[in-house]
Amino acid sequence: MTEAADPSRDRLKHHFAQRVIHQARQILEVWQRLQQSEWSATDMVEITEANQRLLRFAERFEQVEHVQLATAINLALVDIEANRGRLSSTLITDLNRLMQRLSRTGLRHGDRLEQTTLPPLRKPIYIALQDSERGERLAQQLEFFGLSAQSLGNVDTFHMTMAERLPAAVVMDVDFNGAGAGLALATQMQEGLEQKLPLLFFSHLDTDTPTRLAAVRAGGEEFLTGTLDASSLLEKIEILTRVAQYEPYKVLIIDDSRAQAKHTEGLLNSGGIVTRTLLDPIKAMLELAEFQPDLIILDMYMPGCTGTELAKVIRHNDRYVSVPIIYLSAEDDLDKQLDAMSEGGDDFLTKPIKPRHLITTVRNRAARARNLKARMVRDSLTGLYNHTHILQLLEDCSFRARRENKPLSFAMLDIDHFKRVNDSHGHPMGDRVIKSLALFLKQRLRKTDYIGRYGGEEFAVVMPDTDLPAAYGVLDEIRQRFAEIHYPAQPVDLCCTFSAGVVEIAADDDALMMASQADEALYRAKKAGRNQVQGLSLAASTMSRHRHPDIV
Ligand code: GH3
Ligand code: MG
Ligand code: MG
Repeated sequence: MTEAADPSRDRLKHHFAQRVIHQARQILEVWQRLQQSEWSATDMVEITEANQRLLRFAERFEQVEHVQLATAINLALVDIEANRGRLSSTLITDLNRLMQRLSRTGLRHGDRLEQTTLPPLRKPIYIALQDSERGERLAQQLEFFGLSAQSLGNVDTFHMTMAERLPAAVVMDVDFNGAGAGLALATQMQEGLEQKLPLLFFSHLDTDTPTRLAAVRAGGEEFLTGTLDASSLLEKIEILTRVAQYEPYKVLIIDDSRAQAKHTEGLLNSGGIVTRTLLDPIKAMLELAEFQPDLIILDMYMPGCTGTELAKVIRHNDRYVSVPIIYLSAEDDLDKQLDAMSEGGDDFLTKPIKPRHLITTVRNRAARARNLKARMVRDSLTGLYNHTHILQLLEDCSFRARRENKPLSFAMLDIDHFKRVNDSHGHPMGDRVIKSLALFLKQRLRKTDYIGRYGGEEFAVVMPDTDLPAAYGVLDEIRQRFAEIHYPAQPVDLCCTFSAGVVEIAADDDALMMASQADEALYRAKKAGRNQVQGLSLAASTMSRHRHPDIV
C-alpha cells in the first residue's frame, strides 16, 4: 500500500489537524479579547504563549501552513514588543492580516482548498432526536447547506460519538431517550466539559415553563418547537457558533501638525488601533474613500479650512453620514466646543488628553458606529447586504481589482417562478425560501465574497480575485445543490431553482456597467429555460484574451 492511500494515516492526520485548529482558535480568542483592551503586558504574554503552543503542535503534526503562520505571528509579536509605545500601524495591520489568515484556516465549506494544506475541518453538529428518522433527514438537509451534521440514534451512540470528537453544537430533543431524559443528558454532558457547548433544545410539542426553565438551566441557548426545518435551525446555529471578526478599528487623523498627529497615532496604536494621518485637509474625501476609517479625529484649526467646515463637507456625502468625528483641540472655550459639535462632530476632546481616555472614547464610538453601520447596510429579512451597499462594495472592489490588476466577478441571481411559490404556498413560505437561499449562499461562498439581496427574490454576489471560469464553476455547483433542497409542504415538498448571470470585469468598466451586464446575462439565463448560469467575460469581449465555453 502506498503511503498516500493509507486511510488510517489520513485519519490520524485529520485528527492532528483538529488539534492544531483548536490551538489556532485559542489564539484568535485572545486576539479578539485584545480588541477590547489596552494590550497590557499580561495580554501580550498570553498571546505569545498561545502562539508558541500552536507552533509546537504544528511542527509536531507537520501542518506546514500553521508552522508558517505561527512563525510569522511570533515575529510580529516580537516586533510589537520591541516597539511598545511607538507602534506603527503597519505592525498592527500586519499582525491583523496574519490573524485573518489564521482564522481562515478553520475552513468553511466552499473555501478554496488549495489555499491550505488542511482538509475541510468544520466541526459537525450532533442531532439527538427522539424520532431518529427525522434526525437523519434533518442531518441530510443540513449537509446540503454545507454543514457537517450527524444524527445520533440512541444514547450509547451519543456518548461514544461525544467521546470521539466534540461537535460545534448539539441539538437535543428534551425527550431524547425517554420523557424529559434529554434535559438530563444535556446537563450531564455540559458538566463534563471544560468549555460549554452551544446547545439547542427541541421539543416536538409546545412545552410548559418548568421544562423551558430546566432547558435554560441545562445551558440551552435556544428552545425550538414544532417543525424543525434545516434553514431556520441553521440560522440559529450560525448565530451561536459565529466566529467573531478580527478587525481592528481604523482611525483617520486629520491634523496639519505632524508632531501632534504622530503623538495621537502613538497613543491609539498602543491600544491596538490602526491609524492613518492626513496633513492636508483638502485631500480628506480621497483618503476616506481609500482608507474607509471607522472614525475620524479632526483638528479644529488648520490652514485652508477649519475642522467644522471639513466636518460639514464630510457629512454631505451619504456614505460618511454616520462615521463618528471627534475634535481634538486645545480649545477649552465650552461655547466654541458646543458650536463645533453642532456642526457634525460627535465629541470634543481637549489636549492634553489622557491616553486611556482617548483610547476608550475612540473604541466606544467606533464600536457603536460599526454596529449601526452593520444595521444600515444590511437587509433585515436575510442579513445580507442591501441593494445600495452591495453596489458600493462592487464599486470598491472594482476599483481595487483594477489597481491591483486582479480579476473580479459579479453575479446576479434570481429565483425561478417565485410568484408561484407565493401563490401556491403563501407569502411566509416565500420568505422562508428567500432566507434559505441567503443562508445557502453564505455557507457555500468564500468569506471574501460579498453577498447582497438585490431586490425581492434577487441576489447579487461580488467575488474578488475570481475569474469567470472559477465564478461560473462555484455558482453552477451552488445552483445544482440548491435545487436539491426540499421544503416540507403539503401535499408534496417544495423545491426551487434559480437562474444566474455572471460577468468578469474588463479593464475599463465601472461598477454600474458590470451590474447591467450581469443583469443581461441573467436575462439570457431566464430566456434559455431558467435553472442555469450564464457567463459573460467583459475582458474577453473587449480584449479577446480569454475564451470560455460558457459564453453565449
Ligand atoms: P422568473 O422565473 O421570471 O424570475 O419568475 P418570478 O415569478 O420569480 O418573477 P417575478 O419577478 O415575476 O415575481 C417575483 C415575485 O417575488 C413577485 C413578488 O410578489 C415576490 N416577492 C418579492 N419580494 C418578496 C419577499 O420579500 N417575500 C416574498 N414572499 N415574496 C416576494
Ligand atoms: Mg424570479
Ligand atoms: Mg425577479
